[in-house]
Amino acid sequence: MVYPGGVAALAGATLDIAAGELVAIVGPSGSGKSTLLNIIGTLDRPTSGTVHLSGQDVAKLGDRHLSALRAREIGFVFQQFHLADGLSATDNVATGLLYAGIPRRKRPGLARDALARVGLAHRAGHRPRELSGGEKQRVAIARALVNRPSLVLADEPTGALDTATGRTVLALLRRLNEEGTTIVLITHDRDIAAALPRRIEIRDGRLVRDEAPAGTR
Ligand code: ADP
Repeated sequence: MVYPGGVAALAGATLDIAAGELVAIVGPSGSGKSTLLNIIGTLDRPTSGTVHLSGQDVAKLGDRHLSALRAREIGFVFQQFHLADGLSATDNVATGLLYAGIPRRKRPGLARDALARVGLAHRAGHRPRELSGGEKQRVAIARALVNRPSLVLADEPTGALDTATGRTVLALLRRLNEEGTTIVLITHDRDIAAALPRRIEIRDGRLVRDEAPAGTR
């Protein structure tokens, strides 16, 4: 991936992620982690190379088909939550259904179900400022999940949280993975990375290590 201006942020990266995996992407700041996640998530198109998502070569899809595939298959979680301040938790989660073709009247019920999945049914009417950091991230995870995507991509989901809260968010992501969602997350936290079944390390835009404990893959 070469950005305008000539920064080669990712090069020679060959990677297969199977359905049901839980993968950590690690590496120093500026090494290309977010670039990789954005390419996996089809938010960026690579300058060369191919990306297959659920068996489809995404380069062969027009923007509308690609957006539809992304809306159906992928949920995104960000370090800074990216919640809308003026919306309740339920309405924030419901924004995850905007591009999924779900009728408006069905959205609040689905959003409440997703909040229940992350243990926040009792906070459905709260605005982000009335929630703790960990609760905000759980709302953001509910938004990522509300459309039942097969893949969740999380860019430093615990990066803005204290260690204990980060652990609860990680435990939630693990549970979702056990329930069948493929999860790829970027983390700076060595303990978190060490605890995950597969770790991919990036340096200077190259995948330098891809480890899984023996017998787990
Ligand atoms: P990380 O997530 O590991 O911190 P990034 O993928 O964000 O790394 O960035 C990798 C490299 O690409 C860095 O050198 C960064 O400055 C550069 N980069 C990232 N996004 C852009 C962009 N939109 N335009 C130009 N350069 C970029």
